[in-house]
Amino acid sequence: MRMTRVAATAAAAVLALTMAACGSDDGSGTGTGTGSGTGSGNTATGVVGKAASGSLKIGVKADQPGLGLQTGTAYEGFDIEMAKIIAKGLGMQESGIQYVTTVSANREPYIQQGTVDLVIATYTINDERKTKVNFAGPYFMAGQDLLVPAASTITAPEQLAGKKVCSVTGSTPAKRIQENYKDAQLQLFDSYSKCITALAGNQVDAVTTDDIILAGYASQSQYAGKFKVVGKPFSEEPYGIGLKKDDKASCDKINEILKAAATDGSYKAAWDKTLGASGKAAPELDVSKLTNCA
Ligand code: GLU
Repeated sequence: MRMTRVAATAAAAVLALTMAACGSDDGSGTGTGTGSGTGSGNTATGVVGKAASGSLKIGVKADQPGLGLQTGTAYEGFDIEMAKIIAKGLGMQESGIQYVTTVSANREPYIQQGTVDLVIATYTINDERKTKVNFAGPYFMAGQDLLVPAASTITAPEQLAGKKVCSVTGSTPAKRIQENYKDAQLQLFDSYSKCITALAGNQVDAVTTDDIILAGYASQSQYAGKFKVVGKPFSEEPYGIGLKKDDKASCDKINEILKAAATDGSYKAAWDKTLGASGKAAPELDVSKLTNCA
């Protein structure tokens, strides 16, 4: 029994050494490892180091059609495709991604506490959040907008005075209503799908968040003809990939991966498969703006 255990331990050690020497478990040969190590095996830390060991926990949204939507155990959407691009660029198999559902308010704490390694969840880069986490990207530019019933006369946030408007706790759109449109009656939930249900039930007059999120709900078949997106965005919401504040090396590496995705067709393919399915052309990923890693 004792011998067996010793033999097993030795075998495991040999296996570990072999894997470290190969630097990669897909047999694809002569790569330079993770790109940020010293060249002597896997010395990388943070997200790059975790990816080299084959798995990453990525926080995503679960109820935002076209962006991050969970059906059964599967997740789909543009943010999910971005997660796959990042994982591949870090040398990982797609099967090593473990998706973790996040809501707007728990993204910073999930990163800070290590509940997730990355957040790719319609996550606006801003200075306040940068005091807590690091951001690769932006990989997309959204803007705050309004979703209203098809017959509504609301065409701008100024007209929300005295009206019930729904948004999500911990989001930048909710904060903007609280600060700039104080006469609106803000109703907060933890996720946008609850706001949509409230709008469908005439319990609120409008839902506010990023235009791209609202468009995803409006295009769902059960709401066909019921809602309209006002279409006059009143903020800039650059979407970033959140990671630990002290992990600048991984942040830089993810920006390199985004840069490659902008030119090798994978960014466009991610769009075409998800948000672009309705015919909207893929945006440009502006690589000159990948300057947020700190
Ligand atoms: N992009 C905005 C934010 O990060 C709104 C979308 C969301 O809540 O996920 O707060």
